[in-house]
Amino acid sequence: MRNALTIDVEDYFQVNAFSRRIRVDQWDSYPLRVVENTKRILDLLDRFEVRATFFILGWVAERRPSLVREISDRGHEIACHGFSHQLIYKFPPEVFREDVRRAKAVLEDISGSPVIGYRAPSYSITGNSLWALDILIEEGFTYDSSIFPIIHDVYGIPGALREPHQITRAAGKIHEFPVSTINFRFLNRQFRLPVGGGGYLRLFPVSWILRALQHLNIREKIPAVLYFHPWEIDPEQPHIPAELRSRFRHYLNLDKTLGKISCLLDNLAFAPMSEVLEILPARIHRPRPYQRKAGDWRKKHADTDRRRGDAASPEYGEKTADL
Ligand SMILES: [Zn+2]
Repeated sequence: MRNALTIDVEDYFQVNAFSRRIRVDQWDSYPLRVVENTKRILDLLDRFEVRATFFILGWVAERRPSLVREISDRGHEIACHGFSHQLIYKFPPEVFREDVRRAKAVLEDISGSPVIGYRAPSYSITGNSLWALDILIEEGFTYDSSIFPIIHDVYGIPGALREPHQITRAAGKIHEFPVSTINFRFLNRQFRLPVGGGGYLRLFPVSWILRALQHLNIREKIPAVLYFHPWEIDPEQPHIPAELRSRFRHYLNLDKTLGKISCLLDNLAFAPMSEVLEILPARIHRPRPYQRKAGDWRKKHADTDRRRGDAASPEYGEKTADL
């Protein structure tokens, strides 16, 4: 069974754990490491002859368009991680629309291909921000990978479906492909643990992660989603002073990530997310040119001309959810 391999392309100073210390308008003052780290990931994927989906931050794409072109030229899928990496539920819907529309336009302009996949910053589509799915549908996205079906202090919808499924909203339908979790019983209680990457991949032994993902494939017949970030393979990155919990989450086992990813690439089959979902290539969907104005991502978007996605809409899966 093929699993979805996904990389969220952002830099070490853009993560939610440091957002109280570093504002978006300060990002330009930090040295970028995302280009070199992403190229190391591209080389690793070449060695294993595997292709992936890269959810790229619009801010990074705008400053380093050649990186987007290189990812695309080396055979990977370009997808969208928003523009400014802000938690969706902290801002009004029209701020999110502006952010995601801007990022999609930048990525499509650079790559020359339609961008149909989205992943929210810090998985911030939660029970309080399900309206974001309507906006994604209206802005032309075919699939989303933002709902983490766990309990967590920043994100998560506990009890959400764990396998790929379709979600029906007022604006239409969208495929949802949640990051992998595993259910287990302990002391007569049911638990659910994330096993699909990020800090969890760095925290747990890779043999344990591998067994969990194989269990999903073989026992549950569910394709897995693995995710990681370029900064997670970079132990040399500058250290940001922050509270203990943020430092633990960000800096734990950075020197072990590449080895763990290599082990998983060696033992499991991976493909870009749209291919695992069997979503047909979208028809060319040219965005309206985006007129960039510095610092305007927070401004309310007054345009009510809602673009409808013209991506092909395949039949996929039996499972649906009405959220
Ligand atoms: Zn992110």
